[in-house]
Amino acid sequence: MKIGSHVSIAGSIDNSVDRAISKNCSAFQIFTRSPRSWSANKLNENNIKKFKTKLSASVIDEFSTIVHMPYLPNLASPNKIIYEKSINVLKQEASRCAKLGIHYLVTHLGSHMETSETKGIERLVNALKNVHENDVTILLENSSGQKHSLGYNFRQLATIFEQLDKQKFGICIDTCHIFAAGYDIRSDKGIKKTFEEFDHYVGLENFKLLHLNDSKRELNSHIDRHHHIGLGKIGEYGLSHMIKFVNTKNIPIILETPVDDIRNDLDNIKKTKELAYRD
Ligand SMILES: [Zn+2]
Ligand SMILES: [Zn+2]
Repeated sequence: MKIGSHVSIAGSIDNSVDRAISKNCSAFQIFTRSPRSWSANKLNENNIKKFKTKLSASVIDEFSTIVHMPYLPNLASPNKIIYEKSINVLKQEASRCAKLGIHYLVTHLGSHMETSETKGIERLVNALKNVHENDVTILLENSSGQKHSLGYNFRQLATIFEQLDKQKFGICIDTCHIFAAGYDIRSDKGIKKTFEEFDHYVGLENFKLLHLNDSKRELNSHIDRHHHIGLGKIGEYGLSHMIKFVNTKNIPIILETPVDDIRNDLDNIKKTKELAYRD
């Protein structure tokens, strides 16, 4: 089972590997820069070297190390300036992944901002086609359907995905988002139905990463509020079946649970492992 948390790069990017190891991670996710800023400092060559050395000495493999795009870019924006800036950040992040030897870059699909889904998808696909790093796969993350966000159902994900090079793109499913978007994953039956639909539209072979989060909000709420594993509206039963399903496919699991006093990362990982072996 490949499992871990989103960890901080504070201090230096190679510190993220130490943090992942200290949390017993066999997979982990980072931002390579502040997620709430447009600008980024250049990665220091020495720190890149240290990152790679620490990673190769660990049990974590290069396909279980993931970068998440910062939050400000909107790859479907109708605003020309924001759109251009967003494409630049995507290209920068893909290049930073390549330098760090990381294969997976997760991105949100953006918001069409009250224009139309068709126009938004057109801009998004055009933006995604700007990435030309051969060793980096861009993972498109499904959304909860909040406001005018794209990628909230499999039919729409497929419309986007089928316009892209399958060798360079894949899908990341977030359990909180999928539940908020209306897919009932609280039972094994519901999970089976959900993935049958995913397979029909997108193809299961393109499912590369799971973001495992419980949801503070109800099914079909279209609101993205992550909760600790098993403590939200999805609950332990559904999440345990989800974990078992992705483990049969050897897909890495990343937790993006809240930072609060209720439970820490280590205990969320422990809970996930416990659910993976629950009957
Ligand atoms: Zn995300
Ligand atoms: Zn996520």
